[in-house]
Amino acid sequence: MPKVTVQIEPSVCILAANCVGIEPKLFQIGQEPYVELADATGISQGTEYTFEPSETELEMIEEAVDSCPTRAISIQSAT
Ligand code: SF4
Repeated sequence: MPKVTVQIEPSVCILAANCVGIEPKLFQIGQEPYVELADATGISQGTEYTFEPSETELEMIEEAVDSCPTRAISIQSAT
């Protein structure tokens, strides 16, 4: 799978946690008032994370993007 960059826009995330319910390994609620992205070992990567998702992970991320009520999640191909 090609690499993708997932971003969270902290100013619009309202911690509705729809994304956390869909893909809890990637979207995590920590100390901040917005959701954070975690790597495969669970370490926070902040609001921007570039990695190579599996096909299933990619589907889950796209579902999370669609489920976010404030459109705080974006995904794009990384070059
Ligand atoms: S679904 Fe959207 S608003 Fe809710 S926690 Fe995830 S990014 Fe934030």
